Amino acid sequence: MSYRIAFAGFNLESVTAVHQISTYSDFERVCYRGKEIPEKYRGTNTVAGGVLKALGATGAEMVPLFHTLLGALGPASDDAVTAYANELVQGLTGAGDLDGLVLYLHGACWAAGFEDVERYVIDRARAVMPDLPISVALDYHGNVDDRTLDGADIAVAYHHSPHIDMGQTGERAASALLRMLVTGEKPGLAVARPGIVIPSIMSATRLEPLASIIANARALEAANDCDISVMGGFAYSDSANTGMSVICLDWDGESAAREKAEVLSAQLWQAREALAHSIPVVQLEDALKAIEAEPANGLPTVLLEHADRMNDSTHILRALMSCDIGRINVPFLLDPECAAQAHAVGIGNEAYLSLGGKSAPEAGGPLDVCAKILWSGYKKYTVSGRYQQGAPVDLGLTALIEVGNIRISVVSHFAFAVDGDPFYIFDEKPEDYDVILLRSKTHFRDFYEPLAAAIHVVDTPDLGPADVRLIPFRQFDTAHAYPWRDVVQTSNTNDH
Ligand SMILES: [Zn+2]
Repeated sequence: MSYRIAFAGFNLESVTAVHQISTYSDFERVCYRGKEIPEKYRGTNTVAGGVLKALGATGAEMVPLFHTLLGALGPASDDAVTAYANELVQGLTGAGDLDGLVLYLHGACWAAGFEDVERYVIDRARAVMPDLPISVALDYHGNVDDRTLDGADIAVAYHHSPHIDMGQTGERAASALLRMLVTGEKPGLAVARPGIVIPSIMSATRLEPLASIIANARALEAANDCDISVMGGFAYSDSANTGMSVICLDWDGESAAREKAEVLSAQLWQAREALAHSIPVVQLEDALKAIEAEPANGLPTVLLEHADRMNDSTHILRALMSCDIGRINVPFLLDPECAAQAHAVGIGNEAYLSLGGKSAPEAGGPLDVCAKILWSGYKKYTVSGRYQQGAPVDLGLTALIEVGNIRISVVSHFAFAVDGDPFYIFDEKPEDYDVILLRSKTHFRDFYEPLAAAIHVVDTPDLGPADVRLIPFRQFDTAHAYPWRDVVQTSNTNDH
């Protein structure tokens, strides 16, 4: 029998404090529908690609509804959430006989009118499909609780950050759903929350002690019939369920799922202090001094402006303008105005630009520069790095400009500079530079850890601070969570 499995993706990681709202038309710019989805994503290391692979291997048919993945930006508009939920409901009710649904959601999408965007989307599907098996594939940075997943039968999330296993996550979501259909089993699903909020930079899954706890999850899976997702959570999205969690999908039932989730949650709580401080975060002056002292070895040093959430902050770029530390590259600075100005001036000419820092007062303000235009035009490419490998990227109008010894690619659409692509698309390579300024949190590590001479994680006074106590939470009750909760009171207990 050939199963018909509906697929829909609505995915955004929201920083609540970012002023720019992602509207329906923003989501539509990157939205694919119907047969466009297999055309764009088959064979790619994406959730849609993984779902297609798993369904195809068993002769099951994907009924593709829509797929929009906007990346990591500000809040979604209420209208956008409602519109895609409505489209999901219409798609499900109009698709004929269905055997299941795979939903690709983030877990940390935030919209002002919703307590929990992902719970709302899942519940809307459940309301019209009371008996349809629903499987949810989530981002590792999702903020979830039991209620988020109440309407789902299955939930899995990326195991890795950098998210190099997006395809495998889609396969896990689809394979578990197919198992339900083939065997008639119904797995248990449980979420445990230790009450820990860590900044994104500490959520890289190869860092200790996180790596060891995740290894414990893999060992539990090997010894049992379950699928475990240790969730890093997303500090900058302010909801009642902000923070780390553990999702367990267990074919031995609900109580087995809860037991394992609680065991790993307790391990996270025990390690909370170390989890929150797994890598050093330095001040800019110290990073620049360290770079000046580094012997030149032909490999680039990475400066990470991690607190930037809109890819346009100028805190570090401003300092680099007056530094003599070799050739510097600043990939994918988001500034559509400057990209358009540079394009209008033309290749080979100079333009006076008010560059970057416009998204918020916290972004550092624009820099007045005289830039030489090396290239300009519309840029699209396919991801070559392992994170989202094969997925399409549209930078919109783009300009490669030069200010002194600094080369900057200015783009019109938000894009992740986490691999070699920002260089390859201009026939350059990262090794051409002494210093590369990135704004990634964890994804850059897959490509740049093996390549870079050194990585300096720099804290700047921006919207994504390393000290999560600086985040102005309104929805999340910090009183019961680390690092706010009095550590002394709880040092010997686990009753949180
Ligand atoms: Zn993520």
